[in-house]
Amino acid sequence: MNAKTRSRLRRSLEDEQQRLVSEIEEMEREGAENVSDATGENNYRDHMADQGTATFSRELDMGLVGNSKHLLEQVEKALVRMDEGEYGTCERCGKDVSVSRLEAVPSAELCIACKEWEEAS
Ligand SMILES: [Zn+2]
Repeated sequence: MNAKTRSRLRRSLEDEQQRLVSEIEEMEREGAENVSDATGENNYRDHMADQGTATFSRELDMGLVGNSKHLLEQVEKALVRMDEGEYGTCERCGKDVSVSRLEAVPSAELCIACKEWEEAS
């Protein structure tokens, strides 16, 4: 991987990191508002929903936050690997992960063959 490709991938990782951080903040703020806010749209929606539905949608929100946090961890791990010069090397077989795969999934830790192996097993 040349320096230009590396810095381009670093930029996409940093953009993704920014996006996820603000997405998580947004979701957590909205979650807090749904619990504490007694006026406005949220109240209307909560009022209309029965208890079961409200609980369900809160769990769903938590799931989304958890998913974004997981993605953020992967992105941050990839940035650490980049600093350590290990970025772009498959964690399982040690071969290079193709640049086209990294461009599609900048936080990828496995080459395509290992990813397929992992998904199949
Ligand atoms: Zn591999």
